[in-house]
Amino acid sequence: MAAVLEVEGAVKGFPGHRAVDGVTFSVEPGQLFALVGPSGCGKTTTLRMIAGFETPDEGEIRLRGEPITRLPPYARRVNTVFQNYALFPHLTVRGNVEFGLRRERRRSGAALDMRARVDAVLNMVRMAEKADRRPEQLSGGEKQRVALARSLVLEPDVLLLDEPLSALDPNLRKQVRGELKALQRRTGVAFLMVTHDQEEALSMADRVAVMNAGRLEQTGSPRELYERPRTRFVAGFLGPVNWVDGVGVRPEAVRLAGEGDGREGLVRSAAYLGNRVMVEVELNGGERVVSEVRAGDCMCAAGDRVRVSWRAADEIRPES
Ligand code: ATP
Repeated sequence: MAAVLEVEGAVKGFPGHRAVDGVTFSVEPGQLFALVGPSGCGKTTTLRMIAGFETPDEGEIRLRGEPITRLPPYARRVNTVFQNYALFPHLTVRGNVEFGLRRERRRSGAALDMRARVDAVLNMVRMAEKADRRPEQLSGGEKQRVALARSLVLEPDVLLLDEPLSALDPNLRKQVRGELKALQRRTGVAFLMVTHDQEEALSMADRVAVMNAGRLEQTGSPRELYERPRTRFVAGFLGPVNWVDGVGVRPEAVRLAGEGDGREGLVRSAAYLGNRVMVEVELNGGERVVSEVRAGDCMCAAGDRVRVSWRAADEIRPES
């Protein structure tokens, strides 16, 4: 399938350092693509180059095969949903959604059936019944849906989302993940989402790219990246890893038993987390291993001697 968005060798420097240092990836039609990485790794700068708010020093950006690298933001069929949603407080939900469309109509001069398009998109985000409210009368999740509607009504080729869930409280965030993904599926619009939250990326995205210090370390499906990370950085960024004798093993893959095969160790601590227990074991020899076990399966307490093992198939062996 031809990519809807291609970023090829993008470089962007600021005085003193390169924020983005040769980034290449592509997004397929209908895909939810997540760009993840720690704070300051260059995610937002990459997004801003795609939106047209920054010009790359090198490289090319293509939308449906056409170079857009030097086009101004308004000439790109790309829209951005900002972290804080940036809704107009004095306009209603409908007014906010219409606003961008009015601007587009002025620019293109084309006659648009504005009311029908706004209604369709408000239905899609399930905000039709609250169309006459103002932003202050909406919950965080509803505000986000209005921000999405405002972008989707412009029928972008790609929707850019910068930390779309960060303004929501933690409980709501998990619920909205599912809603956002379902909405993406319904619209069929490609979403490129930037987040520093690896769980968000793994649970929502079709494809994930992990960025570190201006470069992409690895791109792949969530499962590929989690189970077969190419670098220690990718392994560690996507979830905790025990590095024992040069191989990595995730806490949930570490088994504990009272006796039998495996290495011997002493339980140093067992932290109860409701549905699971995090058990820290000091192996004979001094290495520490963390095991995450279901609460019902864990009978151990600090001071117990245990056997620690894992399946060879669960070992992580990054190249670097
Ligand atoms: P975060 O998750 O914290 O938003 P990020 O991965 O999105 O981080 P960027 O905002 O892309 O990171 O920033 C990458 C680097 O470039 C950072 O070191 C940042 O300080 C720097 N940077 C970003 N914009 C500018 C600018 N306009 N001038 C100078 N340096 C900048």
